[in-house]
Amino acid sequence: MKLTSTIHVVGGGRFGFGISGELDCHVYLINSGSELALIDPGLGMGRDFDTILDNIRDDGLDPKRIRKLILTHYHCDHVGAAAEAQKRLDVEVITSKLSAPVIRSGDEHAVALDVAKAAGFYPADFHLPPCPVDRELVEGDVVKVGDLEMTAYETPGHCDGHLSFLITGADRRYLLGADLVFWGGRILLQNIHDCRIDAYSNSVFKAEKLEFDALLPGHLQISLGSGKAHVNAAATSFRQLGVPPNLM
Ligand SMILES: [Zn+2]
Repeated sequence: MKLTSTIHVVGGGRFGFGISGELDCHVYLINSGSELALIDPGLGMGRDFDTILDNIRDDGLDPKRIRKLILTHYHCDHVGAAAEAQKRLDVEVITSKLSAPVIRSGDEHAVALDVAKAAGFYPADFHLPPCPVDRELVEGDVVKVGDLEMTAYETPGHCDGHLSFLITGADRRYLLGADLVFWGGRILLQNIHDCRIDAYSNSVFKAEKLEFDALLPGHLQISLGSGKAHVNAAATSFRQLGVPPNLM
């Protein structure tokens, strides 16, 4: 599904557009014109990744042109399909320095899959396949997708190792926020070992300082023109020592 000349949504489940696996996050495809990059390929149950590839073809794009697989954080609804994507596409796999060892090992405790399965969020027989990582990012690193630049910002709080990206050089400025901030200034706190409220507020304050038009979250509504307002709303709640409304 083409959102703009730069951004396609090619997957998403019941908290998205319902165009791939039920539990998939929003799966974004970035098109610079000369190169494609896939962001967070979803959970990867059954043939769900095939559906994502079909969606890319339906948008008139060839998945063989995808050269980068970028993973914002290690939660399974975002990276479960990473190993399959890495095997089937000719891609460099890119994530944060903190997420990389966890994604390489498929450590189910580190990604909170053990507790998420116990809580019924994922099927009991789902396992996270380990995925090689080629490049590890830290704050300020830039990933080039053709002429576009994606600047990495460390935005922990939702979980350790979470990255957001400012995309520049395109038709507008995008904050690819993943699970940092959602529509209406909501956030996603969960009772898991690496969810940290103080880190979360600092990450939102960091995003508030960036200049962007569009907010590309990991779930729910997308804003192409007033993305900043949603980040500002979350920051305002935190500044008043409160907690923004939670997604769950
Ligand atoms: Zn998450």
